[in-house]
Amino acid sequence: MSAAGPGARRGAASGATDRVTDASTHGSTGDEALLARAASLDAADPLAGCRDAFVPAGQGEHAVVAYLDGNSLGRPLRATADRLDTLVRHGWGTRLIRSWDEEWMALPTRLGDRLGEVVLGAAPGQCVVGDSTTVLLYKLLRAGVADALERGRTDIVLDTENFPTDRYVAAGVAAETGATLRWIEPEPARGVTPDDVAAVVGERTGVVLLSQVAYKSAWLADLPAITRVVHDAGGLVLWDLCHSAGAVRVDLDAHEVDLAVGCSYKFLNGGPGAPAFAYVARRHQGRLRQPIQGWMGHAEPFVMGPDYRAGEGMRGFISGTPPVLGMVGIEDTVDLIEAVGLDAVREKGRALGAFVVEAVDDVLADRGVRVVSPREDERRGNHVTIAHPRSRELCARLWGEHIVPDFREPDGIRLGLAPLSTSYTEVARALVRIDQLLAQDSTAS
Ligand SMILES: *Cc1c(COP(=O)(O)O)cnc(C)c1O
Repeated sequence: MSAAGPGARRGAASGATDRVTDASTHGSTGDEALLARAASLDAADPLAGCRDAFVPAGQGEHAVVAYLDGNSLGRPLRATADRLDTLVRHGWGTRLIRSWDEEWMALPTRLGDRLGEVVLGAAPGQCVVGDSTTVLLYKLLRAGVADALERGRTDIVLDTENFPTDRYVAAGVAAETGATLRWIEPEPARGVTPDDVAAVVGERTGVVLLSQVAYKSAWLADLPAITRVVHDAGGLVLWDLCHSAGAVRVDLDAHEVDLAVGCSYKFLNGGPGAPAFAYVARRHQGRLRQPIQGWMGHAEPFVMGPDYRAGEGMRGFISGTPPVLGMVGIEDTVDLIEAVGLDAVREKGRALGAFVVEAVDDVLADRGVRVVSPREDERRGNHVTIAHPRSRELCARLWGEHIVPDFREPDGIRLGLAPLSTSYTEVARALVRIDQLLAQDSTAS
């Protein structure tokens, strides 16, 4: 058994429990009940075994007690460590430049097809892996807006709660093309609804850019209904799937989505800076022109001719040399999701979220902690954001104790729940520690 095996994990776990118990100032039975409930949920969890597929997060006193940030940076799979090693020694080290012909030229579309099939509900030939989410957003939004402007449709519809890069890219495209930004202002704890969209779309609507799962609140938008509303108004919809891919069902083809982009380093565990994916529905591929015409998107890149001619299908949405080292790890998570089934992944995410909402009500509500994510499971993605005036300081203390959620301005703590790697016990330990820290501070003051 390697040091990374279950024995090591057990050691880390009991160390963490000691720390939690020692620091307790009030020996809350609520906390103990929560940890016990978490242990029984873990014992009954059909995906519990998936945790062993991940690289262990440290050992002994440095072991991570609870990792609740898999929605920002997913943990690496052991298979990815092996795959990267093989890539460096064999594909790169031995096959050298021949690997471009043997594997790498096809990688962006081959991996795109795998993602499409297993995670996104997209038939082959509509997805590609390549640039960052920001750059792919620009490419697809710019392509969609150019197409819309030709039909006299001048508006880009978006919402004030979307991730900064989405808003900034849209503002840049509007400045570049003369398009108009039309803003939806959802309540922060909620998100965009079909009615919100219906209220702003019309004959001017070009492209509607929204996130399926809101990065702050975790609001899970009604993608099928919103897509229909946009189509009824004659517009195109561009879905940002950063917080959905590998966590919730998307079913792009079934819902006739036009365009989509998403991250691979969050729930897809591709690694820091792993490139994003883009989806362009086949019916739009011939018509839409992406703006970064590079040699790798050319129909015949190695002819190196005088003029640009877009490659067939999704190849035409590639710009430069694919980031091979960064993208190979995505496939390991796709394999794992395929093995356990996306529905099981969603079910675990939903159950983890419900566990957090209930636990906050039971244990933390009396300390002034509120759930600011949707309380209904069907409208919540895979994190739960809680709010307390002292969240910033709490987060800093938790990080010091190897409990890792993230802080979001102004007073939010996001508890990211990665179905393949997060246990109920991890979540319970974090909540118990928050309870203890707030109890200590109130006795001290
Ligand atoms: C994480 C995230 C991004 C990140 O974009 P990068 O180009 O990878 O930095 C963009 N949009 C949303 C909604 C995100 O959650």
